[in-house]
Amino acid sequence: MNGKLLSSLACGFAAVSVAAWAQAPQRPQIQTSKVEGTENVYIFRNGNHQAMFVVTPDGVIATDPVAYGRPQGGAQYVAEIRKVTDKPIKYLVYSHHHFDHIAGGQAFKDAGATVIAHSRAKERLAALKDPATVMPDEVFDGTRNLSLGGTTLELSYVGLNHSDSSLVMRLPKERIIFVVDFIPVGSVPGRGMIDFYPLEAEGAIKQVLAMDWDRLIPGHPGPGDRLGSKKDAQDQLAFLQDASETVKVAAREGKCWDGVEKEMKLPKYEKWPGYENNLPFVLRRYCGLWGRGT
Ligand SMILES: [Zn+2]
Repeated sequence: MNGKLLSSLACGFAAVSVAAWAQAPQRPQIQTSKVEGTENVYIFRNGNHQAMFVVTPDGVIATDPVAYGRPQGGAQYVAEIRKVTDKPIKYLVYSHHHFDHIAGGQAFKDAGATVIAHSRAKERLAALKDPATVMPDEVFDGTRNLSLGGTTLELSYVGLNHSDSSLVMRLPKERIIFVVDFIPVGSVPGRGMIDFYPLEAEGAIKQVLAMDWDRLIPGHPGPGDRLGSKKDAQDQLAFLQDASETVKVAAREGKCWDGVEKEMKLPKYEKWPGYENNLPFVLRRYCGLWGRGT
């Protein structure tokens, strides 16, 4: 940006905000980073979405293309993998069926990857025929282990939660899980509550808590890009349970929908990112449950 434009901007804005803007850290649109303490686990981030990929001597296991609305996003992700290794990309695993995470897989297909998803993800994709989203080649319902070059990635379906097709991906040796959208790290869930299954989700999170792992890679960067812990999963469960119990009382007093959505607060969580914008989505979903029976 040239000096003339900068000074005209400075005239138009309060000096303090220009200073803040000038000092804001430059966050690239696309970023690939190795997970600390691992030899071969990477996070690929595109904007506010991210995915995990694992590099082995026999090839790469990638997850979620995260290229919704970004026609070049899949190719850019493959190019980032190519900066790390020239081994073949053997698998692309979809975390669940939502397009914001799985659009853009064609570049992986072109690279020779087999696309794997839960069977219900394939059913939905077959019905919707999104032109940017590649159909899975292989599906399963319960669990499946991918073993490649000495690494095992365990894929588990733990029931309904944020969607009806969410997988937990666990690296047993590295004690890392990749979980997208149904256990947000330190933040309040938002639009994802649209197809959220409130009763079943609690059980799903409890199943994840019972698994053996230390760190959780989320599908959206956590606060300060940190990874999640079991405490984060417990906190998310507690948040959902608090929201559920609070709305239940109001619903039985006939206060759903508007009264709850517009007026109810959960101040215990007001410091969590997303609280202001996302709380109404959460309250609406629990009004659906306790005020309607859905
Ligand atoms: Zn989602």
